[in-house]
Parts: sequence; C-alpha cells; structure tokens
Amino acid sequence: MSEARDLATAEQAPGAVSAAARALLTVDLAGIKANWRWLAAVAKGAECAGVVKADAYGMGIEPVVAALWDAGCRTFFVATLVEGARLKAVLPNATAYVLDGLMPGTAAIYPERGLRPVLGSLVEIAEWAAYSRAVGAKLPAAVHIDTGMNRLGMPPGEVHKLVAEPAPLNDFTVALVMSHLACADTVGSPMNARQKAAFDALRALLPDAPASLANSAGTLLGPDYRYDLVRPGIALYGGRAIDGRPNPAAKVVRVESRILQIRDAPAGEVVGYGATFTLTRPSRIATLATGYADGFLRSITGPIGRPPPPAYIGGYPAPIVGRVSMDLVTLDVTDVPPELAQRGAWAELIGRHVQVDDLADSSGTIGYEVLTRLGPRFQRIYVSDT
Ligand SMILES: *Cc1c(COP(=O)(O)O)cnc(C)c1O
Repeated sequence: MSEARDLATAEQAPGAVSAAARALLTVDLAGIKANWRWLAAVAKGAECAGVVKADAYGMGIEPVVAALWDAGCRTFFVATLVEGARLKAVLPNATAYVLDGLMPGTAAIYPERGLRPVLGSLVEIAEWAAYSRAVGAKLPAAVHIDTGMNRLGMPPGEVHKLVAEPAPLNDFTVALVMSHLACADTVGSPMNARQKAAFDALRALLPDAPASLANSAGTLLGPDYRYDLVRPGIALYGGRAIDGRPNPAAKVVRVESRILQIRDAPAGEVVGYGATFTLTRPSRIATLATGYADGFLRSITGPIGRPPPPAYIGGYPAPIVGRVSMDLVTLDVTDVPPELAQRGAWAELIGRHVQVDDLADSSGTIGYEVLTRLGPRFQRIYVSDT
C-alpha cells in the first residue's frame, strides 16, 4: 500500500526522478539557507527564527528544518502540535513554538515533545500555569498579545486583567512575548505603527521577556519592528514579503510536469472544459500531468482578466490554454520546436521564468497559498548545491 503510494513520489536515489513521477517539485535547500542568512543579517542584533508551519510552506518540514538548523537557525514556529512533533523528531535540540496555542487537554503533550505553546488568552494562561504547578516545573511558553488583528492572542483588556491578577505568571516561564502584524506587507500602512505602539504599551506591563513582532515583511520594514526575535516564513521560501518592492530573496521552488500527449488541432476547435478557448490557428496542444488537485489553481484560467503566465519547455514559452482541470493542464506548443515538445518531455510551470508570486497574481491569490497548496502527488526533490 505505502509502497504503491510512493511509486511516483519517493526519491529512488538522491535527486533521482521516479519513472512514474508525473510532476516534480524541486526545492533548493541551499537557497532556503541563503535566505535565512540574508534575513539573519538584516535582523542584525535580533535572533532570526524560522517559521515552518504548513509543512514548511509546502516544501517539506523535515528537510527544510534540517537545512535551517545547518544554517544556524535555532528557534522555530509551527502551527500545530503534529508539525511540532515532526520538527522535534528531526531537531531534538531546537526551540519550537506552536502557534495554535493550548487546545483543551493538550498541555501534557508539550513537555513530552519538548514544545512550547504560544498562549493567547487568559484561559490558556490559567491552564498552562495549573499544569506547570501540577508537574512542579516552570514550563516555558510564549505569551501572544493581540495588537489589533482580532485573531489570536490576548486583547488589551485581557492583558490588563492579567496584570491586575498576575499570580499565574509566577507558575510558568514567559520565554517570549509576541504579537503579529496585519499589514506588514504594505509599507506605510498606519496599522504597522499603531500595532507597534500597542505592543510597546502592553508588553511593558508584562514580565520582562524577549519580544517578537515581525514576520518576513516586518523584518524588512525596519529596525523598529525587529525587537529580540524575528519570525520570517515566506521570505525563507523565496516568496514576496512586501508588496510593490523588488524581492531579493533567492527563488527556491521549481515545479515541472510531464507531457502526457501532444495533438494537432485545426483553427476553430476548442480546448478543455467549458470550451472556453477557441483556437485561432492550426495548433499543437500538449497536455501536462498537473492540475488543480496538485495545487495548480484553476482560477489561473478563470475570469481574473489577465492571461496566466506561460509554461516553459526547453526555454520556450508555451501559453496555458483552456481551463485547468483536476489532473491536467493544456498548453499551446505550436511555437515550441517539436523535438522539445514531445510526449514524456518536461514543462516548467514555476521556476526560472515564472515565479510563485506571478502565478498567485494571475489566480487572485498570494504566493503563500500557491506554495502551501502544492500537493502530495509531486515527487519532491531536494538539491543543496547550487
Ligand atoms: C505565519 C506567521 C509568521 C510568518 O509570516 P510570513 O509572512 O510568512 O513571514 C510569523 N508569525 C506568525 C504569528 C505567523 O502566523
């Protein structure tokens, strides 16, 4: 069963492509390390952590955290306990925070797995304090303050309540006080300064502890936002952190897919579901083995109003025509030399020519979603020497 499942997705030997692989996701671990070093250098005095939630933004948590550790990263953030357990299985000595915080009945799992919760409410703080008391240890945790996002973290009212009744704070170790920016990707958004001011005011009321406010974009916003620890995610994976600015991060993702069939079709014929695309000339159509079930979003050929970026075959652009279907996408390869556009050849969907954010812009979403949707049917190949 699992052998059958792995037929097309497991590396046979380092870097080797399975005969059954229909699509490849190549992750440049050296690029991820270079991006971490860049952000660590930008952060200067602040510690640079690594955010590896959602399977390291779809890249694969185990190889990515090993690479980040190798680059010097020692503190990690995951979303879930399961992600935390996977991280600690690879890096037993890493400091790992779980952003979900404390779900009811989960306190014992944290020390068992060497994880730290990001506590986001008075209830969570009371539970963590009680558990710490019960086991007789001042267990470490982060305290998350909500400075205006109204998502996770203690709203100011709860912080004031905690300050008025601070007993639980004696029972555990506040290892980090953090908050999260809503608009860091927008330079000049008044939310940034407002959230920073709220963070400064609220954390001053709490026990002295290292502070953290910045995601990737926050790290790049300027020294005021960096505090003691920065928490970049998307920039590690080469994604755009700040809108409208050049993105200096190394691009680390390549997505390629095999051509299943090639056909010639006359002018006037249509391509794909809904017959949305009509050929205006005699054309060659290549059908690729990647679809929306793989995270190649159907909305790229939806009504967003701009043509999707092309695929590339041997460096030649091949426009995407017709709708993306569940398992397939169709290309116009009329202008690609026929010896390159052949059954079994590989076409590049993301890589040297088309970036993750280009696809996102054409699908009405963000690079984060494009990356985290890249599915389990890709064979993931890790390269570390570019
Ligand atoms: C996801 C996340 C980050 C990382 O954000 P990027 O924009 O990917 O850099 C940092 N902090 C928190 C709380 C997050 O949820």
